[in-house]
Parts: sequence; C-alpha cells; structure tokens
Amino acid sequence: MRFIRATSANLMPHSSTYRGRFAPSPTGPLHFGSLIAAVGSYLDAKHHRGTWLVRMEDLDTPRCVPGATEDILRTLEAFGLHSDEPVIYQSRRTAAYEAALLKLQTNGAVYPCCCTRKEIADSALHGIEGPVYPGTCRDGIPAGREGRAWRVRTDNKTIEFGDALQGRITQHLETEIGDFVVKRADDLFAYQLAVVVDDAFQGITHIVRGADLLASTARQIHLQRLLNFPTPAYMHLPVAVNEAGEKLSKQTLAAPVDAAHPARTLMHVLDFLQQRPPAELANYDTKAVLDWAVANWDAAKMRGIRTLPAS
Ligand code: GLU
Repeated sequence: MRFIRATSANLMPHSSTYRGRFAPSPTGPLHFGSLIAAVGSYLDAKHHRGTWLVRMEDLDTPRCVPGATEDILRTLEAFGLHSDEPVIYQSRRTAAYEAALLKLQTNGAVYPCCCTRKEIADSALHGIEGPVYPGTCRDGIPAGREGRAWRVRTDNKTIEFGDALQGRITQHLETEIGDFVVKRADDLFAYQLAVVVDDAFQGITHIVRGADLLASTARQIHLQRLLNFPTPAYMHLPVAVNEAGEKLSKQTLAAPVDAAHPARTLMHVLDFLQQRPPAELANYDTKAVLDWAVANWDAAKMRGIRTLPAS
C-alpha cells in the first residue's frame, strides 16, 4: 500500500467537475484590473482542483487591437497562468452564435429592430446601463423600415441569483435594462449572447470575474434559460479603481501590468484580493507565490466588496 502524505493539497475541497475560465477582450494589454480577474478565476479553480481555461473574446473586431491577443497570452504565461485546454477564439465561433440565434428566432424569443441609437436615446428612459429600449419594434417593424439588429424579449421577468461574494442580486430586465441586442446592426454578435453560448459549450461551472459585469449576469441567465443551458455559479470580484474612483480600463489609461517582475506583481494582486500573503513570500519565485495562493485561497475575505483602490 502506498503511503499518502496528508499535504495541504490532499485536504483541499475536491471537485473534479469544476470548470472555470478567464475571458479577456483583446482591446489592449492586460492591466492590473484584468489581472485581478485572471488570478482570481485561476486561484478559485485551482483551489477546487478544477480546470481553468482562457477564452479570447475577440468578437468585437472594431475594438480589438492588433497584437493584443498575443500580448495577453504572453503575459499570462509570465505569471504562470496556463490554460488547461487550448485557447478558443470567439472570432472563429460565428457558426455557434448563428445556431443559437436561430434557436431564439424559432422560439419567437427575439425580434428584428430597426431603431437607430438616436431614436432610442430620444424616446427611452434611463436604466442602469444607459437607455432602456422602449419596445418600439417588439410587435413588428414599422412599414417601410428594415430590421438592423436582433433583440431578445425580456418579458417582465425578474431574474434572481446568489453571487458567492455579492449576495442575492435581483434585476427586473424589462425596466432596468430593456429588450437587449443579441446581434448588432453591424452584423456582429453581442457579448451577452456569445459569452452564454461559449460558457455552455466549454462546460463552465463557475464564473469568477469583476463586479463590473454584475449587471450583465441577469441578461446572461435569461439567455441561458431561453437556450436551455445550465446556469453556472457566479462570483464577482471587487473591481480595481483609480484615485478618481474610476474602473481601471483602457479608457482610464490603466498601465499594462509589470510582467518583468511577476512575483512582485502577484503579491500586489493577492493583497488586493484580501489574501494577506506572508511578506517573506516576496523573496520567492512566481510558482511559489502561486502555490501558496492556491493552497490558501479564501474568497470569503472579499465578501461584499464591490470596488477597491488599485494601490
Ligand atoms: N470579455 C469580457 C471583458 O473583458 C469578460 C467576459 C466575462 O468574464 O464574462 O470584460
């Protein structure tokens, strides 16, 4: 009989079915805010001995920056964050999104919409993410006009879910968001549809990402139900903000992460994630820091926190 040492690894909660992911959009290099989501999703997956995947959300081609995909993948490697399966690219998955749209069309869950941005802005009430679509085309397109986008009916539905850190979330889709676009007027599929199709395709069971996406989750659950997909467990991490309280992003000119000193940067990420790594860990290499963080991961330390200063 082999002697099995009771290492901390043996004592970790075991789930061979956990499948998590990090899904960056290649609109620029990884910055501290996106690294938070990468590391948080990785640690939660690995602490549960799960599979962790990287998916490149390069669907919104006008927003993609040449070279950003390679840059992001190189940076993740420098941090020791390796995808357990080959990276998939949304730009190559149009057929899957077409199939999902066809299913929604067949079920009458979506309708073509001819409204321009200006028309919507002129007639809409303001919701949590800008104008709430007033339903102009819901019962048909006015004569002489042509459908430009596809919208999904929200049908007076209140969506409720429990987030591992942010508690119970409820959203009334019709009044807070409105019937939302799944295929855009420029013929591109919307993030909300693609993310749901891909999470189901990849068998994702746990979604760990920034709380800036908390408001999108109800829309995604609505689509999962319409498409008969399972709903994964959600954990929305605190979002890194700058001194002005703005989310770090390309728009707020967030600096690319320092991949030349990954161990030091990782320590900073772990501080942000409230993991309180021992200071002497800073003298070790990236792998040692990650190993410590996987073994000691305690997401509950971030319970209820939606934003935190980046430094
Ligand atoms: N691609 C999205 C972003 O970079 C994240 C998608 C997700 O995690 O659901 O904001």
